[in-house]
This record gives sequence, C-alpha cells and structure tokens, in this order.
Amino acid sequence: MKKNLGELSLIEHIRSEWSAAGRTSHGVARGVVLGIGDDCAILHPPKGHELLVTTDFTLEGSHFRRDWHPPESVGHRTLARGLSDLAAMGARPLAAFLSLALPAKMLTSRAGRAWVERFFTGLRGLANRQAVPLAGGDTSESPCDMVLADIVIIGSAPAGRALRRSGGRAGDALYVTGELGGAAAELTDMELRAKKLKSKSISPRMPAPNRLDAHPQMFPQPRIEVGLALLRRRLATAAIDLSDGLSTDLTHLCRESGVGAEVSVAALPIHPIALQARAAQESSVSPASALQMALHGGEDYELLFAAPPAARVPRTLAGVRVTRIGSLVRGSSISLLDPDARRWPLQPGGWEHFTIKH
Ligand code: ADP
Ligand code: MG
Repeated sequence: MKKNLGELSLIEHIRSEWSAAGRTSHGVARGVVLGIGDDCAILHPPKGHELLVTTDFTLEGSHFRRDWHPPESVGHRTLARGLSDLAAMGARPLAAFLSLALPAKMLTSRAGRAWVERFFTGLRGLANRQAVPLAGGDTSESPCDMVLADIVIIGSAPAGRALRRSGGRAGDALYVTGELGGAAAELTDMELRAKKLKSKSISPRMPAPNRLDAHPQMFPQPRIEVGLALLRRRLATAAIDLSDGLSTDLTHLCRESGVGAEVSVAALPIHPIALQARAAQESSVSPASALQMALHGGEDYELLFAAPPAARVPRTLAGVRVTRIGSLVRGSSISLLDPDARRWPLQPGGWEHFTIKH
C-alpha cells in the first residue's frame, strides 16, 4: 500500500534528524557508505571481520506499556535489546535499521507526534552514546492501536572470534556483569505508580537525564564495551546476554555448551532496587523476593559468561562490575548452592517477557 502523508513526513523528519547523528567523532559513521534515503543502505565492514545480525521486536503490550514506560524509554529499549545481543557476542555495532508501525493518531495528532518525537530522542540518545547510526528502516500505519517496532542491528567481529553460547567447558568459572533483578523490580514500581495515577492520566515519569543508568527497566545499558573487552582479551569461552533471566539464559548457555552449572546464592549481585522490600511485597504482576527477581526476572541485559579457571578476570571490565557467581560442571544439571552449602535444583523460570493484562 502507498505511504500516506503522515508516514512520508515522518520519514523525512527521521532522515533530517539522523543525517547529523549516526556520525561518530571520527566523522562519517564507521562502516556506513550510504544511509537513509535510498532503496538500500550500503555498509562496509572492517577488513578481516565477519558480520553479525540480530533482530528484535519491541511490541506494545508485550514488551512495554505506553502508560508505564515514558516514550524515551521505549525508544531506548528498542535499540538496547539489539545492542545487548551484539554485546553478548563481542561484536561492535555497524548500523541499525528500524521498522516502525504507528497507530494512525500518532502520525496526525499533536500528542501523537510528540510521543514519536520523544521515542526517537530516547533511541538517538543511546545510538549516539554507542556510535550506532540508524541507516534505514520502514514506517507504516499500525493495523491496531499499538506501537510495533522491530530493530535490526548489523555488527562485526574479527573473523572466527565472536563469542558463542557453545564454548563453555566443565570447570570454567561463571561471571555476570552489573547487578541482577533491577529491571523486574523497577517494573513492579512502575506498575504501582501507574495504578495510583490512573484517574489523573498523568504520563509516565521520566527520570533525570543524568540518572538514566539507575533505571534498569526503563534504560537498560547494553554491555557493548564489556563484550568487546572479553573478545579482545580472549577471556571468555562462552557468553550470553540476560534478556529472559539468569535461570533461563544460564540454561541456554549450558545446553549449547553441553555442561551443567552450580551457582552460589550468596555470590549473586542483587540490584539495590530489588532489595527494597516495597517492590517485592506489593506487586500483583510478580509478587517475588529479591532473590527470585535476580534469578528469574528478565530484561536486565547484563552479560553472563564463562572463563577458564586460570583466566585472570578483573573485578571490573570497561567500568562495569564483574562478579563470579559459580562454575560450569560436568553433566546437565543446574543447581543453586545456598549459604549452608545445601544444593537446590535451579529450574528455568525467567518470564518469556512480561505478559500484560489489559
Ligand atoms: P522503500 O519504499 O523504497 O522501501 P521507504 O519510503 O520505505 O522506501 O523509505 C525511504 C528511506 O527511508 C529508506 O532509505 C528507508 O530505509 C528509510 N526509512 C523509512 N522508515 C524508516 C525508519 N522508521 N527509520 C529509519 N529509516 C527509515
Ligand atoms: Mg525502494
């Protein structure tokens, strides 16, 4: 179907906003020969590198709610989901492509256009910080009253060196970056706040710009620099990003590597927001303890990686805390060791993203 005026003017707007962005401090964006404006983008990967491609949906109602997430957060998360996949493989992003379906009102009404503008502010903020140009996409009227976004990100890594889920060996030490459970805990806070404000129809609160990294649900920080450091320093045997929760993603890594794992409860770096009892107690979405949020809460977008026992893994990588949480073991079972050294089976319990009830 032919594009309507709203769609065409939005594409023009995106193009003008991104002709300056998407360039790095070195000048023209590394790797993009031709960006928005033609039928295809043209990319030029670095010599000796392979291309890595990832694609992720961000769907209203499944991955965010317009009454819980500020528009900047939705834009940020749309890009962050893809960047986190590249981070897990030690790749550097080359270019992003965004397919966006917007409800008709959003293309025409002033409030709708303001939402879209703020969505792009969030997306561009992260893109600029990570020097990822938006090199193309597609724009269409949504067939329903929902915002649907799909991001494709192309990255590159030295040939044969990308980190995989499958390289872990029994005896390797297991590490995570950052802290766990914060995204799930913040989501319950956002739900509570939205419920309290319902009658007033106030839009979701936007955190102070210099405090974004203290909001793991609204503004998760993809660990691109950590992934690059792991690859460059040849530290990791296997890696995965924590999108669905530690229990689920550790199960994926173990299955692909053909090993089991032991995780020490006392070692888990639990996010301070998850440790606040309020979030844990009052939520109706997921009444969960801080430990449950750290084990099963999704969307932290931290990295989980294995390293040989002799590897010297520093306590921080690229400025991000790195914590040893356990080991890979022979077999296929995954267990938790509690502070009394009792062993509990760890079942994959990460949510397959939150299922939202309207
Ligand atoms: P075509 O019909 O040839 O696919 P479009 O009219 O859809 O072209 O898009 C024109 C240009 O704008 C293309 O370069 C496309 O990649 C870009 N574009 C369209 N929508 C978006 C978007 N949401 N984000 C970034 N670039 C976009
Ligand atoms: Mg075309």
